[in-house]
Amino acid sequence: MKRFFIETFGCQMNVVDSEKAAALLRRLGYELTEDPQQAELILLNTCSVREKPEEKVYSRIRQIRSRSRRVLIGVMGCVAQLYGRRLLERVPGVDFVLGTQALGQLPEILERLQQGQPLVHTRTPNRPEFLEISPAERRLRHVAYVTIMEGCDKFCTFCIVPFTRGRERSRSPLRILAEVRALAEAGYQEVHLLGQNVNSYGLSERLELGQRLRFPNLLRLLAEVGGIPRLKFTTSHPRDFTPEIVRVIEEYPNLCNWVHLPPQSGSDRILALMNRGYTRAEYLRRIEWIRSAKREIAVTGDIIVGFPGETERDFQQTMALIEEVEFDGLYIFKYSPRPGTPAARLSDQVPDEVKTERLMRLEQRQREIQLKRWQRYVGRVIEVLVEGKSAKSESHWSGHTSDNIVVNFEDSRENIEGALVKVEITRVNPHSLFGRSLEVLR
Ligand code: SF4
Repeated sequence: MKRFFIETFGCQMNVVDSEKAAALLRRLGYELTEDPQQAELILLNTCSVREKPEEKVYSRIRQIRSRSRRVLIGVMGCVAQLYGRRLLERVPGVDFVLGTQALGQLPEILERLQQGQPLVHTRTPNRPEFLEISPAERRLRHVAYVTIMEGCDKFCTFCIVPFTRGRERSRSPLRILAEVRALAEAGYQEVHLLGQNVNSYGLSERLELGQRLRFPNLLRLLAEVGGIPRLKFTTSHPRDFTPEIVRVIEEYPNLCNWVHLPPQSGSDRILALMNRGYTRAEYLRRIEWIRSAKREIAVTGDIIVGFPGETERDFQQTMALIEEVEFDGLYIFKYSPRPGTPAARLSDQVPDEVKTERLMRLEQRQREIQLKRWQRYVGRVIEVLVEGKSAKSESHWSGHTSDNIVVNFEDSRENIEGALVKVEITRVNPHSLFGRSLEVLR
C-alpha cells in the first residue's frame, strides 16, 4: 500500500481541501502517514494570502527534494493556482501542480504521472463543483467543517483570494443539508460552515444546483436538522451582514454565540482605498445589531495595519474603533503586498518598522480590552467542547466555548475528548480562560 503525507498551510478552507484530497487518495488505495519520511507522495496545500507562508512552501519543497529524489511532490491550494506552470520554474522538483478548483482531477493526475512529465492543472470548471466527502472519510471526529460557498466577488484591493479561489459560487442547499444530516447521524458535536464570505451565500448566480437560498434561510434550515448541538459559521463580510442573521442566531439555541466580522480598518479613507464597500459608521451599525441581540454574542475581527498610505491619523481611527467595539478576539496582520493586486502597485507603501510598531501597539491595547471583557466569565458556568489535552499540562483539557474562546480546565477523567462539558471559570489568562469541570453533558 502506498503512503501519503499532507502538509496544510493557511486557513480552514485549506484544512477542508486537505480532508477532501485525503479522501480521494484513500479511495485510490493510499494510506495516510504522519511521517513525511515514510511517504511515497507528499502534498503541500498552500496559502498565498501573505508572503511568508508562500516562502515557507518553497523552502519545504527544496528540503523534501534534497532528502529524496523518489518521493512524488504535489503542490495544491492558492500558490498552485496563482503560479501554475511558473511554479515548476520557481522551485524545481515539483511533480504536479493542482489548482484550487481542480482538486477532483487528483486521481487522473496521479495516473498520468506514470508517463514521467510534470503536470499542471489549474483550469476552472464551467459549472460550480463542490467535492463531497462522507463523515467516515473525515479526519476530525467531533467537529466538521462544511463548505457552503467558495470564491469571492468583492475584490478588496489588498487581497489575492478572488484570483486564487475564483468567483463567488454557492453549493447546493440540498447537498449541504444532506451532509449536515449525515454528520448529525454520525454523532458530530459541531458543524462549522465555511466560505470566504458565508453571508454572501446565494447572492451570486453561480449556484451548484437546485433552489437559491439566502444565508439566513440556509442557517434556519440547518439549525432545524437537530442532533448537532453547535452550528457556527465563518467568515462574514460586513457589507452583506444583515439584522436577519442576528435574529436567526437569537431564534436557534444551537447556533453559536459568535460572529467573526472583520473590519480591516477604522479609517473611512483606508476602507475606501481597500474597496471594502462599507464605512466605519456602517460597520459600527452592524456591531449595534449584534450587541442588542437577546443573547450575548461575541464578536471577533481581523485588522490590517500599514495598508499603503495609512497615516498615524488613520491608524488612530483603527485604535479608536477597537476601543469602541471591544472585540472578544482580534487577528492583527501587517499589510503584505501580493503580486497582481491593486494595492501592491500603490506608491506610498508603509515602511516595515512602522507596520511592526503599529501592530504591537494595537496588540497591546487589544490584550487589555480582552482581559477586561473576559472578566465577565469569571464565576460563570459555561459549556466547552473538548478538543484534547491542553498544550501546557497533561492533567488539563482544552476546548472552545460557543463564543469561540479557548478554555483550559482541570478534569481527572481519562478521556473526555469530543465531549461537551460544563466548566466553572475561575480565572482569565491573556489568550484563554481557565476553570474546573463540573459535569459532562454529552
Ligand atoms: S472579501 Fe476581500 S478580503 Fe475577503 S476574500 Fe474577498 S477580496 Fe479577500
